Amino acid sequence: MTEKSKGEKRFEIDEDLTQVEVPELLPVLPLRGIVIFPGYIYPFLVSRPASLKLIEDVGQASRIIALAAQKNPEEEVPAPEGLYPRGTAVRILRMLRYPDQSIRVLVQGLARIELKNFTQREPYFIAHVDRLHDVTQPADKEVAALHDHLVSQFSKFVSLVPYLPDELQALAIQVKEPGRLTDMVASYMKIAIEEAQDLLATLDVRQRLEKLIAILSREIELLELGHKIQSQVQTELNKNQREYYLRQQLKAIQKELGESDSRSSEIEELENKVEEAKMPPEVRKVADKELDRLKMIPPESAEHTVVRTYLDWLVTLPWGLSTQDNLDVKHAREVLDEDHFDLDKIKERILEFLAVRKLKNDTKGPILCFVGPPGTGKTSLGRSIARAMGRKFVRLSLGGIRDEAEIRGHRRTYIGSLPGRIIQGLRNAGSNNPLFILDEVDKLGADFRGDPASALLEVLDPEQNNTFSDHYLDVPFDLSKVLFLTTANMLDPIPPALRDRMEVLELPGYTEEEKVQIAHRHLIPKQLAENGLGDVKIEFASEAIREVIGNYTREAGLRNLEREIARICRKVARAITEGEAAPERIGPEDVQRFLGPPRFFSEVAERTHEAGVATGLAWTPNGGDIMFIESTRMPGQKGLTLTGSLGDVMKESAQAAMSYVRSRAERLGISADFFDKSDIHVHVPAGAIPKDGPSGGVTIAASLASLLSGRPVRSDLAMTGEITLRGKVLPVGGIKEKVLAARRAGIKTIILPRRNERDLEDIPPEVRKELEMHFVDTVDEVLQFALLDNVAKPEEMKPPARSPSAGTALN
Ligand code: ADP
Repeated sequence: MTEKSKGEKRFEIDEDLTQVEVPELLPVLPLRGIVIFPGYIYPFLVSRPASLKLIEDVGQASRIIALAAQKNPEEEVPAPEGLYPRGTAVRILRMLRYPDQSIRVLVQGLARIELKNFTQREPYFIAHVDRLHDVTQPADKEVAALHDHLVSQFSKFVSLVPYLPDELQALAIQVKEPGRLTDMVASYMKIAIEEAQDLLATLDVRQRLEKLIAILSREIELLELGHKIQSQVQTELNKNQREYYLRQQLKAIQKELGESDSRSSEIEELENKVEEAKMPPEVRKVADKELDRLKMIPPESAEHTVVRTYLDWLVTLPWGLSTQDNLDVKHAREVLDEDHFDLDKIKERILEFLAVRKLKNDTKGPILCFVGPPGTGKTSLGRSIARAMGRKFVRLSLGGIRDEAEIRGHRRTYIGSLPGRIIQGLRNAGSNNPLFILDEVDKLGADFRGDPASALLEVLDPEQNNTFSDHYLDVPFDLSKVLFLTTANMLDPIPPALRDRMEVLELPGYTEEEKVQIAHRHLIPKQLAENGLGDVKIEFASEAIREVIGNYTREAGLRNLEREIARICRKVARAITEGEAAPERIGPEDVQRFLGPPRFFSEVAERTHEAGVATGLAWTPNGGDIMFIESTRMPGQKGLTLTGSLGDVMKESAQAAMSYVRSRAERLGISADFFDKSDIHVHVPAGAIPKDGPSGGVTIAASLASLLSGRPVRSDLAMTGEITLRGKVLPVGGIKEKVLAARRAGIKTIILPRRNERDLEDIPPEVRKELEMHFVDTVDEVLQFALLDNVAKPEEMKPPARSPSAGTALN
């Protein structure tokens, strides 16, 4: 027999069980794992042979039997001693025979009993029983309080157990008698067999209440704890479920909209790219995070584009892509020679630079800075070095960059923000070790938008640039493998902190002869090829090139020369396509046909035939240039006007020149009081271009002396030099540029400060051959050499007859 709980539990509260008669002799059915309390209605299945026999003998419903729990539920055939002595008298309410011979019985507990002596053991037990009664003290207040407490605890218990119906709470309130209440509550609880048996055996109602309340409280506590854990688990689960659910919905919506495929393939593609991009771990982390974000953002939102663009940047940067360096110095020499004529000093330095790299194999070292006028090959040298080393080449022109963000990028919070130019350049290069040329560092600006120079400093500093942080990327990029080169037209405007990092290599400009050579070897073949004339044999006569250089360009570099050659090539190309035969040779006489009338001509002779005009030599960012200084005089009183955008230094040297001329008036044959009756105006065209520096001193002095003495300055002469009040001539800079400029302008003789004599070493011999250099120590020497005696040969140191201000020859 067995007593598996099946179906509903019920409890009889209406019947007054104390009135039920319990016979003294009862058949005893052993129970396994359950205790039946009085009032409890309980169904169980009987299958053990002895028990089946008992039920069959009892035969019918409404018979009363005794139930007693087995001490050991495992025992198949228990002895009377194996049963708890206290049990329950039950009434059989219903019996149902099953096809397998087992019988289902429904019983109702009636009363506690005590099994006395067994009168029969086979085939089933029969025993004498004593009916037991609850022990209570009438009007015991504590029992009443325990009763109420039990009701409320039970009510709580029911609310915590999901399978117990809420009506039980009402039912418990209806049970007025404490003893029955304990039986009822115990019947609905799952209590361990020992405790249940103890409750059954306890006749004292107060004790029973206390025991049950203890059990109930413990159960409630366990239930509550369970609930707490459950609800924690639940919240976790809910959050995940919610996300999962929403994502499923999103997928469904996207599918409806026909997006899901392209969307997921887009993300998949990005995921693959992230995988392949060889990012450093910390960057990878950021990329993964952004990918997760991208998955959540609907594609229509602006944020989607922002994240998408950002990821595109991350995956296309060459985090781990480097090219292999070729540090073969011989090969480099060949490449440099192939691309560039002459420039030996610079090439040597570049080769040394490569050699050091080869031996030291690190990237720290000075940053080379090519300084010189436009078109002298600074950028193309950079390109050549890249070619020699087998590196990618990137060029960034810094001219006019005023905003730090151009270098470092905008933060991603700005709509449409982008990384700075450095990162952009690296992406274009596609390798993390390109040769990066920063053009025109001298043109870098700075204003309220931040200081780009300081950002650049970080880029160039080998101590810092391995973690260069671009505002847009927000993750560090290692720039330490990049080979940076810089170019500038002038050194002065470069911020000192930047200049300190650089090693300056000067490219001062080319002589006419060098230009002719370069044109033959490089510019002409290049332009012929670029204009589709690579296969046509056209020879440019050197004279023709000279013609172009002299009459169509005036520059230190080669830009305009190259441009004019390109124009000639285009015209030839057009003529060929129009059916003409290609010219075999381009001679000087052809140049005008192609390029139109000459654009420059020597104006020196024309300008200086009047007294008061002297030709100076100036250094400009575009190389050297000649400069006319004009003076004129009008009636007035001691006025000195200086115009032509002169800087302070130049104005002061004009004043010094004036003072010197006045102090020497007598020797120059100028009336000593000329200044009392005159205003003098010194002007330096072109008036719009700012000019400064002390090197115009001798020229201003010559111009003034010429004006006041009436003796013109020699027309084929140009000069440079600083003067002192005492009439000494001090050395100045930029000699090579100035000399070349003089030659371009058709000057034949140059006056230079004596102490600049050694600078002539830099000047190619063919130029030196053509120009007459006249070195001076004093202004007197200058004037003596420069001023012509075009007035009727005056007597020494005597005022000329013509006018009081016209001077005599200087002795
Ligand atoms: P920069 O950067 O100094 O302004 P570029 O590098 O743009 O000058 O040079 C202008 C042109 O002159 C380029 O076509 C360059 O190849 C050419 N060039 C300059 N110097 C030389 C040289 N020494 N040999 C051959 N070509 C030269």
